[in-house]
Amino acid sequence: MNNSALVVLSGGQDSTTCLYWAIDKFGHENVSSLTFDYGQRHRIELTSAVEIAQVADVPNVILPIDTFAALGGDALTTEEIAVESALDTETGLPNTFVPGRNLIFLTFAAAFAYQRNIGHLVTGVAQTDYSGYPDCREETIHSLQTAIQNGMDAAIQIHTPLMHLSKKETVELADRLGALSAMAMTHTCYNGQRPPCGNCPACALRARGFAEAGVVDPLLL
Ligand code: ZN
Repeated sequence: MNNSALVVLSGGQDSTTCLYWAIDKFGHENVSSLTFDYGQRHRIELTSAVEIAQVADVPNVILPIDTFAALGGDALTTEEIAVESALDTETGLPNTFVPGRNLIFLTFAAAFAYQRNIGHLVTGVAQTDYSGYPDCREETIHSLQTAIQNGMDAAIQIHTPLMHLSKKETVELADRLGALSAMAMTHTCYNGQRPPCGNCPACALRARGFAEAGVVDPLLL
């Protein structure tokens, strides 16, 4: 495995920040990006990812894994289910939780990296400030890294630069890394609107992060 990095690029602000983090850490020529077409209702995410990779001038591949909608039950891949801010009374999770999504993304990303001898994966998951998605927690990612290293017999490392950052700190990091111009192309809104709806939980969280950091969201300019 070599010292290059593959960034899981969703088209959102966190993965975009991670893309610039990886460029800073591994060098521009050693970074590429991978985007999953997982049947998300908001196809705009894919357009955003392609545009962000172009602005950052890194290669991007879109990998189709269109299986989640067939599993059913989540609001991100199922047209009939509206995004709700209320939490499920049994699981304590919002209905935007897609079970196993990050586990599957990172496992496919590792397989993609393995075939290209890429030694580092970068993902924008964070356990702070979020909806409590269990597949974003540090413990989950550590376990998955161990499983990947054992299961592929390869020294692939998973980096989570945003794991312990608040949204405010993530915006500050993006600013420091020069990621704000790409941030204008990112997509966050759970309702798939551009310009963003401003009301959904994802829009609210994003707005609060920028406000607290004292930075104007380039998406709104
Ligand atoms: Zn929204």
